Order: sequence, then C-alpha cells, then structure tokens
Amino acid sequence: MKYLIRGKKLVTVSSMGSIQNGAMLIENGKISKVDAWDKLRAHSTGIDVLDYSNYVITPGLVDCHTHLLEFAPASLYPVTPETHFIAGKGILFQALASGITALGEQICGHPLCDFTIADYRKIVKDFPIDISFAATSISVGFEEMAHFTSVTSSKEVPQSDLTSPSLVRKIAENSDYPGENVFINATPANFTPEDVPKAGEIIYTLNELKEIVNIYHGLGKKIGCHVAGEKGIELALEAGFDVLHHAHGMTKEQIEYAAIKGIPIVATPMGGTHLRPNSPDEIAELVEKKIPVSISTDAYLPPYEHVQWLPFKDRSLRGPESLMLISHPSMQLLKDRFDENDILALLTYHPAKLLGKEKQFGMLAPGMDANFLAAEGIPGLEMTEIDKIKSVFYKGSKVVNRD
Ligand SMILES: [Zn+2]
Repeated sequence: MKYLIRGKKLVTVSSMGSIQNGAMLIENGKISKVDAWDKLRAHSTGIDVLDYSNYVITPGLVDCHTHLLEFAPASLYPVTPETHFIAGKGILFQALASGITALGEQICGHPLCDFTIADYRKIVKDFPIDISFAATSISVGFEEMAHFTSVTSSKEVPQSDLTSPSLVRKIAENSDYPGENVFINATPANFTPEDVPKAGEIIYTLNELKEIVNIYHGLGKKIGCHVAGEKGIELALEAGFDVLHHAHGMTKEQIEYAAIKGIPIVATPMGGTHLRPNSPDEIAELVEKKIPVSISTDAYLPPYEHVQWLPFKDRSLRGPESLMLISHPSMQLLKDRFDENDILALLTYHPAKLLGKEKQFGMLAPGMDANFLAAEGIPGLEMTEIDKIKSVFYKGSKVVNRD
C-alpha cells in the first residue's frame, strides 16, 4: 500500500521542523519521504493522494505512563474477569481516538486481577496502538500498608518481598522500559485521603534501592520510579534511577542535578502522588534546564483538587482523552521561548525515547512507522478537544476518522 498525504503544515518534531504545505509518502506502513508538497507531487502519478490540506499533520501522541488495562476496567465498569478485557479494549480505543498511538502501560499487581503480564501482552497484540509494558511493584498507603507486584497477581506480599533479589529480578525481566518500576513512596492510588493515611511514606532504604537498581542494570535494563517529595527524590537520585516519574515537589537543587545527569522526568500534572502535581511553571523550568520531559496522564486518575491549571470541576476519573488538556498550560508557557516542534516533543519524541522506541515513532521522518494524526491545530499547544482530531493513522492505516 502506497499513498501521498498532504497537509496544510507538517510539524515533524525532527530536524526538518515545520513544513508549510508539506506532504509524506507512505509505503507499507512506513514513512518513506517527508518534504514540501511541490517536491513530492512529482511522485504522485498513479498513486492515491489523501488531501488534508486544511489540517495540521503531526506524529501520533505518546502517553508513556498509564494504567489502562489493569486498574481502569474495574474502576470504570462493572466488569468480571470474563469481561475485563472487553472493557480494556474500549478504553484503549478511547486513547486512540484521542490521538494516542503509543502507550507505556504499568502492570503493578492488583487485588482484583489475576492476570499475568503475558495475558496483557496477548490481549493487545493486534490492537492498533504500540504498547510497552513496565512491570512494577506497588505499595498502597492504607492504614495497613498493602504491597503487590506484577509477577504475583492478586496476592498481597509482605514488604520484605519487595527487596527479594529473585522477585526483583523476575519483575525486571518482565519490564520493557523504565516506568514506575519501584514505588519509593506509598501511593494514594485513586483513594480519598482518609483511606490512605500512609500515602507518601518512604518504603525503602538507600541501600535497598541501590541493590534494586543494580539488579536492573545487571540485566541491561533501565529502571524508573514513582517518587515525590524532597526526601524521596534525593533517594532516587542517589540510588541511580534512570527515570523519575511524577517528581512532585522537586527542589531547585535536585532539578540542577537531574539536568547535569540528563535524567528524564515524566511529569504528571493531573496528580498521581500524595503531593501537589507538577505545575506549568515547574514543567517549563524542567524544559528550560534541557531535561527531557514527557507529559503523561497516569490515567485513569481523579484530578488533583484546588490547582488553577486543571480545568476539572470534580474528582471523577479522567483518562487519556485529557492528555492535551492537562498539557496545554505548560505548552502555552513555552510558546514564546521554544519552537513548536520542541514543544510538541513533550507529547511525542521524549516519551517515545523513554520507551526506547525513538527510532520507530515520535517524529515524522523517513523510516519511521506511519503513526500520525491530522488535526485542526497542534495537539496540546493550539487545541485540546479530541473532536478537533480529524483522523488518526497507525502504521499507515486510518484507524480513527471524524467527519
Ligand atoms: Zn502511575
């Protein structure tokens, strides 16, 4: 299958930058040429031309920290184990319809789910979204702290198991990329504060964390963590974690240190920890310091309350359809100081690189998967409504269309 697609503007997120009146040649699910329409039209004899010349074409969005398949089905729908993944696929389609063509999914272990990571992989195999899985352990800050792991299904484990080398090795082996592999602080998850008085409590010593990091590195894997607050972030930086997720409450000195070390940060401005989430000012500061920042939903989440950068009126659960909305204030702040391609990289190239797939997607460039969308503006920067995304393409096939 071969066609040309033409747009009002291509925001490539590559060294080519934005191309007015641009076009791409798509062959067998890959982008084979990117250039001005005038230069590419010579190739158009005898092949289809998809005319999106009223629309902006950008790479598909990448949400590199989500919980769509494990926690979300039972949170949103009255599912049983038999119908869990039917709901899961509906949730994935909602992400796709929101312009997201790649996800970084966390599998943490869950009291209601007896599925294995292999089950999750099997279910999504033919789904038109690229999904990387992070295998994790998790500590929920109930009065009686509860610990689970991605390799022990619904069974609660004692805290001492979280540092067991054989268990950590098994989790690491099942992990595709540095997600929130270790919860340095206990999480409030989606519970109300009264239910999780121990949310935020630090679970590990520095030596324990160093040993866990060593196990991952020994297997040639990078490791990320769920972390918030000065003390937790200090531990994460000292123990040598490769990626910080959330990093809510990071101090100026810690930002300087992360910048020097080039440690990527996955900002979750909707919530996700016991602390106030990343503000637009904080996200802009990370970008100014040249830290590779991804913005992610951590969906499904009840949005953090009483922060002026979140437009939500209540705490009902929000999903990947909110990615553009929660990114918009930060992207707006960067508008006068950065090129639109560098700003869109927060939702495309940086998360793709975090997933280790930056050679496969995250920009519009020859050789990349043809994962892109045609929309009324630049996602997150110029528009936040998913209805303004006209079409989504995955590996060259149109998988979402709004007419
Ligand atoms: Zn999370």
